[in-house]
Amino acid sequence: MERRKFMYLAGASVAMAKVNPVFSLGSISSKGKGKMNFEYWRYDLKLKHTFTISRSSRDSVPVMLMKFEKDGITAYGEASPNARYNEAPNTVEAFFKKVDIAKLSDPFKLEDINDYLDSIAPGNTSAKAAVDIAMHDWIGKKLGIPLYKFFGVDKSKTPISTFTIGIDTPDVIEQKVREAANYPILKIKVGLPNDEEIIKAVRSVTNKPLRVDANEGWKSKEEALERINWLATQNVEFIEQPMPASQIDDIRWLHERVKMPIIADEAIESLYDIAEVATAYDGINVKVQKIGGLTKSRKLIYAARAHKMKIMTGCMIESSIGITSAVQISPLTDWTDLDGNVLINNDPFVGAENIDGKLLLNDEPGLGVLPRS
Ligand code: MG
Repeated sequence: MERRKFMYLAGASVAMAKVNPVFSLGSISSKGKGKMNFEYWRYDLKLKHTFTISRSSRDSVPVMLMKFEKDGITAYGEASPNARYNEAPNTVEAFFKKVDIAKLSDPFKLEDINDYLDSIAPGNTSAKAAVDIAMHDWIGKKLGIPLYKFFGVDKSKTPISTFTIGIDTPDVIEQKVREAANYPILKIKVGLPNDEEIIKAVRSVTNKPLRVDANEGWKSKEEALERINWLATQNVEFIEQPMPASQIDDIRWLHERVKMPIIADEAIESLYDIAEVATAYDGINVKVQKIGGLTKSRKLIYAARAHKMKIMTGCMIESSIGITSAVQISPLTDWTDLDGNVLINNDPFVGAENIDGKLLLNDEPGLGVLPRS
């Protein structure tokens, strides 16, 4: 029989939750199958630098970490809710409270579980991603294989990750670029009136290739055209989401006039967006949190390939749980921007390593993440 409860367990056995309350969603027991348990807790990721993009500025990012236990196997998941997609810790919590964990009794049924999660409510992609990631972690641990093997990919083929430089004053930008000296490719956030100043500050320190993300910041197609043409003179490999996702006609107009690849991020929220996005963009940014998990991300990757599109694996600000889940599928893609866990200084987990941009997966079963002790 299912017992739903909402418990405050501060100081409980979960080591990394010492300063954070642990909310238990509930637990059920069933004969012969053993006990299942699903717990989640909020954790505030602290950024090393204030992180500014065109629409927001943050010093910390609240995520919801979760733990699923069945057959003596403990699996982890993470939701990094993003206001751009109408999510916050309270919406993740509200979603988790609607989950009937009896529906998770066979984690191998990923398709059924994803359908079930979608039947609870639309959207809520980070909450759904947390559950789907945990199901994958459990499957890998049950089978005794790392997830990259479950996905049939070569772990040596993880693309070199960019390191992200948020919007800032020129002197801070220069300092951040110097700190990122070991990363061979940088991702530069723009989309406010000081774009040119930012790129010039970067270029005063380094000549390495840049990828630029405007996060929907440019509102007119003429402005976007002018800025992309200028960026083309600055050794920039591609431009991500130059204009609002809703302005796809303007993006198509731009696409006909610039050589620089245009990558969709905010414009691609699900598999169902790909057909239209393919008419205006050269590639997509697949984020496990935005798409709703690994199952859906892999489907989107294959759908994008069918449209001959380039693919980047990207991220939100996430702990090593979320980042490592994305690293596991990254060999399927062309580029990675999986630095969310190296931008923070209190990652409660250890998982894939980022050595100067090279993402290294371990051979532990499942996700390959463990609580940092
Ligand atoms: Mg982006």
